[in-house]
Amino acid sequence: MSRRKFTAERLIIASHNPGKVREIAELLAPFGTTVVSAGELGLPEPEETGQSFIENAELKAHAATQATGLPALADDSGLAVAALGGDPGIFSARWAGPTKDFDYAMKRIEKALADLPDRRAHFVCALSLAWPDGHVESFEGVVHGTLVWPPRGNLGFGYDPMFLPNGRTQTFGEMAPEEKHAISHRADAFHQLVDACFRN
Ligand code: IMP
Repeated sequence: MSRRKFTAERLIIASHNPGKVREIAELLAPFGTTVVSAGELGLPEPEETGQSFIENAELKAHAATQATGLPALADDSGLAVAALGGDPGIFSARWAGPTKDFDYAMKRIEKALADLPDRRAHFVCALSLAWPDGHVESFEGVVHGTLVWPPRGNLGFGYDPMFLPNGRTQTFGEMAPEEKHAISHRADAFHQLVDACFRN
């Protein structure tokens, strides 16, 4: 598949999360791309009405592109639990309630799993790069694992303490950030994006 190359100098990061923006800026620094976040520009956050991670990432990227006239990159991510039919999925942030309480969200998952023996889960990260003419390139990264209970470790964020990646002994909540970033769904999606759109 032929992908459109990114050749502009400035890129809007369609996120209001400073941590995500910093990670993306570091990743794209070697390509001479200057990034500006939607948060810094005071752009509104569109409602995530899509039915999939990619639909939501595309919706956020298009909204930022239309508001600024510049290319924009957006991400959407979450945890899909096999025995729960893929829930919480695109609703991963919402399962934590208005106070974004992930101890509560993890307990909700554990309760829903009850005695179900299948503990498989995977994290998904969709990344979408949109241009002002409406063109968009999207990528989806995954990391597979199982869910442990009780949660372990206090590093990372969100559902990290209950996610044990396949072949590892430490949960994402126990792993050093560099270790997580080497194997995460976000890293997988970024490698695909960089290979397709940022390398000659
Ligand atoms: P959003 O894409 O910013 O809406 O975030 C989706 C939600 O998925 C986050 O709030 C986290 O709960 C969860 N999530 C996404 N990626 C990760 C991760 O790497 N670790 C833990 N939780 C994650």
